[in-house]
Amino acid sequence: MIDDCLFIPRQERLLDYLGRLLLQPPRVLLLEGGRTEERATIAKYWAAALNCTATQKPCRTCSVCRWIAQGEFTDMHYLDGREGRIGIDAVRDLRPLLGQAPRQAGGRRIIVLGEAQELTVEAANALLKSMEDMDAYNHFVLLAPQRERLLPTLVSRSWVLTLGWFSSCRKASSGDDEKENVPGVAQWLAALEDFLRTGKGWFAMTMAKPRIDKSLAAGLIHECRSSLIAAMQHSPREGLATFFYGLGAPHAWRNMDLRLIQAEQALVAQVSPLLVLDWLVMGLRQYSTSCNKEILEKRQKTVEIDRVQQLAGITGNKIPL
Ligand SMILES: [Zn+2]
Repeated sequence: MIDDCLFIPRQERLLDYLGRLLLQPPRVLLLEGGRTEERATIAKYWAAALNCTATQKPCRTCSVCRWIAQGEFTDMHYLDGREGRIGIDAVRDLRPLLGQAPRQAGGRRIIVLGEAQELTVEAANALLKSMEDMDAYNHFVLLAPQRERLLPTLVSRSWVLTLGWFSSCRKASSGDDEKENVPGVAQWLAALEDFLRTGKGWFAMTMAKPRIDKSLAAGLIHECRSSLIAAMQHSPREGLATFFYGLGAPHAWRNMDLRLIQAEQALVAQVSPLLVLDWLVMGLRQYSTSCNKEILEKRQKTVEIDRVQQLAGITGNKIPL
């Protein structure tokens, strides 16, 4: 029997890389990027790869692979930040476990911290301590939207891998069947970018009360976030990412990121997708205009200083801003 749970589309490169890491598996793996469910599935894939006894790991058919896929593997433990903050008690409870050999003879224990950005600072510090003196058969997997949202000390201890972003725009233009799941994301994304740049167009579209379902809104939020992360990582390629990058303001990126997280949470809490999107774009526009204002003021200041310097006959030795 083959369990589909360990098949992960669109992440072939990363899976190939994990296969190579098996030669010397890192004690702490951090998976960032992609979608929450994708990260969780890849954590299972990694657990299966570490424990599967077949030549081609994970084989997806042996009992270990099947148990892991079905969430029934006794050496895999999951602390799930999707359910709320991960506190120090949950992390402390792991300690006695870490001293015991895995139940599966010759196997490896996997402890997954899902949405690890939900760790409290105390819990993250306790985790660091556990990582220091644990036995070699224990492996941690941290899952997070992006590494910047974790304590730097946790990140520096981790082998970081970034999931390939799923882009519904690219999928739509390439005719992939993913388009069926999130119709219209590309158009909405273009409208959003236009609104952020010009302040026009968005509300004319939403006032016409179009059909926006939860999956479309989630797709749009996901695209926004991947663009924002590309900007934060100084690797914008196109569209919205170049716009965010142009703002050049880490404090605004951080606020925008929080706004995107809150929008996601509102969708989960069943707030109307249309309301969520209107609220989101208003916030993003506010943050971008305040950045643009700062940039304009800075430019203005530079021009004034240049004039003063010219008047004073000073050249080549500018007054620092
Ligand atoms: Zn297997």
